Amino acid sequence: MCEHHEEVARPSVARRTLIRGAGGLLLGGGLVTASATAASAATSQNGWPAGYSSQIPLSRLVVGPADFPAGVRTGQVHTILGYVARRMHNEVEALVDGWCWGHAYRPISGSTTLSNHSSGTAIDINAPRHPLGAAGTFSSTQVSRIRSILSYCDGVVRWGGDYSTRKDEMHFEINVRPGDARLTTLVNKINGGSSYETNETWTTVRRGASGFRVTAIQHLLRARGYSLTVDGSFGSITESKVISFQRSRGLVADGIVGPKTWGALVITCQQGSTGQAVVAIQKLLTYRGYSLTADGSFGSITKSKVVAFQQSRRLYPDGIVGRVTWSRLTV
Ligand SMILES: [Zn+2]
Repeated sequence: MCEHHEEVARPSVARRTLIRGAGGLLLGGGLVTASATAASAATSQNGWPAGYSSQIPLSRLVVGPADFPAGVRTGQVHTILGYVARRMHNEVEALVDGWCWGHAYRPISGSTTLSNHSSGTAIDINAPRHPLGAAGTFSSTQVSRIRSILSYCDGVVRWGGDYSTRKDEMHFEINVRPGDARLTTLVNKINGGSSYETNETWTTVRRGASGFRVTAIQHLLRARGYSLTVDGSFGSITESKVISFQRSRGLVADGIVGPKTWGALVITCQQGSTGQAVVAIQKLLTYRGYSLTADGSFGSITKSKVVAFQQSRRLYPDGIVGRVTWSRLTV
């Protein structure tokens, strides 16, 4: 369990109770002390009602193999923290059972402030790998994926890695008060109902660019019959092939891969598809954290990763990579 927030260091006597048992780091009833009783009517740091697990509404949270002890607050909080945990598991780092925590009623000693875990509005992920106070426990690639998750959550979720003083990189918490309209907005966005994202969002790529988008473009040009080396670097040869492709399609032949060229270049793929376009999809999924072997063969594993990616972006989860999914993979 992380110690939460920047303000108060807990005494070692409290810390001792956190680490015990053969299964790793566990929380137990012994953790809650007499001082907790006095604070039982209080709210946690983020303004949510706090209490023992019998006093506040909690639901079990299971993500991959990880069962978060005591769960998290029922309702919108459960949806949001579950979403964060699923994307962490799928895109950043596989969750480990016994290393993830949810609700725990614990006042911060020497302070009237209760941990946000006390209201069931915080989770810790793979704690032993991301100990309190340690910075840089995630790679830069992982951090960029965490940023993507946080960005999706529009400020509703705060990451302990963003604390200004003592970092707490295992920790994610609800950062708005009960009833805040942004909760409903985010839950609707996550659940989607029948309203899936259907807009294409393309990133324009031109000569001088490098990286995963260029790699995808080069594979797609190969899939279209153009001969070139896939090196992830958009040089004069790639540009000349793009111009040839644009001419063949009656597009403006400027060598720039904008929305119209992207739309013409991508190839819809699904289970059973093979070839260079599938290689591009597999590499893009790996880049997004859904690791795959780029063997150019769209099998059941590739399909399951496509579905997981689509669910994470609120795309219709049919496992078919059409223009909208292509655009989200390359955005
Ligand atoms: Zn925490």
